[in-house]
Amino acid sequence: MPTPVPITVAHGDGIGPEIMDATLHILKEAGAALEIETIEIGEKVYLRGNTSGIEDSSWESLRRTKVFLKAPITTPQGGGFKSLNVTTRKTLGLYANVRPCVSYHPFVDTKHPVMDVVIVRENEEDCYAGIEYQLSPTVMECLKLISRPGCEKIVRYAFDYARQYNRKKVTCFTKDNIMKMTDGLFHKVFDEVSKEYPEIQNEHWIVDIGAAKMADTPEAFDVIVMPNLYGDILSDVAAQIAGSVGLAGSSNIGEHGAMFEAIHGSAPRRAGQNLANPSGLLLGAVLMLVHIDQPEIAARVHNAWLRTLEDGVHTYDVYTEGVSSKKVGTREFARAVAARLGQMPQKLKAATYRRAERKPVAAASAAGARPLTELMGVDVYVAWYDGSPDQLAERVRQADRDGLALTMVDNRGVKVWPEGKRETFCTDSFRCRFTSAAPVTQGQVLALLQRVSDAGLDIAKTENLRVYDGKAGYTLAQGQ
Ligand code: NAD
Repeated sequence: MPTPVPITVAHGDGIGPEIMDATLHILKEAGAALEIETIEIGEKVYLRGNTSGIEDSSWESLRRTKVFLKAPITTPQGGGFKSLNVTTRKTLGLYANVRPCVSYHPFVDTKHPVMDVVIVRENEEDCYAGIEYQLSPTVMECLKLISRPGCEKIVRYAFDYARQYNRKKVTCFTKDNIMKMTDGLFHKVFDEVSKEYPEIQNEHWIVDIGAAKMADTPEAFDVIVMPNLYGDILSDVAAQIAGSVGLAGSSNIGEHGAMFEAIHGSAPRRAGQNLANPSGLLLGAVLMLVHIDQPEIAARVHNAWLRTLEDGVHTYDVYTEGVSSKKVGTREFARAVAARLGQMPQKLKAATYRRAERKPVAAASAAGARPLTELMGVDVYVAWYDGSPDQLAERVRQADRDGLALTMVDNRGVKVWPEGKRETFCTDSFRCRFTSAAPVTQGQVLALLQRVSDAGLDIAKTENLRVYDGKAGYTLAQGQ
């Protein structure tokens, strides 16, 4: 018997306590070596006035165990409550969200009989930093931040996962034909890192056609890695088309901890009736067992569960007349899985797990040599209500001096001066690009901003135009 591993467990809300009891029963019967610390999270904590849904003492448990098995919680209606998932993800630095999406044909109804896709979603960056601004009365902005260390961590995680789980291919989805710098970096790092894993195939798809292909022919994919927003959307699509939202588990992995859960919510209407399907949380727990180095127990649990599905012992949500043999409740389902421990599935692919290769957490490349940077100008965002783009340019050019001159005005990325097109629809937020043939100082830029302000314009924000080791750190406007 291996040494018990401390884990933190939260029973959650709604159906949470029932599916957690069922899951823990199966883990215990399977011989998982766990030392469980129980914490309270969710609705009761929120309603006690704690807006984060988790007490400080619970954080201490999470810091100690670094492993969190979490049942779904109910976020109370109304404002002011922070998402516990987002808080946990950010506090523990859970940068990788991993969601296996598998179909169980012919035992669970699905349009895609052959589907076994793992979505690896970057969890910390992209549009999810929550950095947004209002640029003018009618224009809002959200910053999409992508970093090289962030890309390296998630892409390496995806390839390490593929290696660990005997997967053959890792696919990357981005939109780098449009977002050349942010998604371009993600794609570039994918190409670089993939060279370290020559035994694993790699490919890149533009996310739109890739998503369409995944929804149509999921069997063409194995592991798919993507930035946060695409991953958020497509991991739900993948789980749904597998036919098994109630059957999917997921892990959130970070440098300071890991969290394992079902992908569904607390289904309050089903609570307390011994109806809910505990499979999603159980499969989350299987991922946890691999993570804490108990791969044999993980396989034992997973295979007993597959055998239970094959035997047609189904909860109401997957029960189908003619396919299922017995409709059972949460507790009976757990007992049926426990009774099959040691058995293997006969038609479905058996699960095999091996010990995780323990290597230091993907070392994100150090900052490297500091590049030579030069300031070549500035973009000044202004709100303008009083006339045409030409009139705006005329006004702004009053600020030209010291080699810094207005070279372009655009509206949401489309050039409107010089030689704008009459048809271009303009909002009240414009970007005025001032550039210089030779590098300028920050002082020159500040003096320019003062002159723009003196010309009577409201500056919403500015972005410096820097060149890094001779390469522009900004894009051109459409039409520039
Ligand atoms: P939900 O996932 O709870 O339920 C959607 C539907 O799926 C319901 O019809 C439900 O009956 C069914 N369902 C879900 N899980 C099931 C299971 N294990 N067995 C059988 N049927 C199941 O989504 P919702 O109704 O939109 O959200 C309910 C609450 O859950 C909300 O408060 C929401 O904020 C919360 N939520 C929590 C998490 C989490 O803690 N990770 C995730 C999503 C939603």
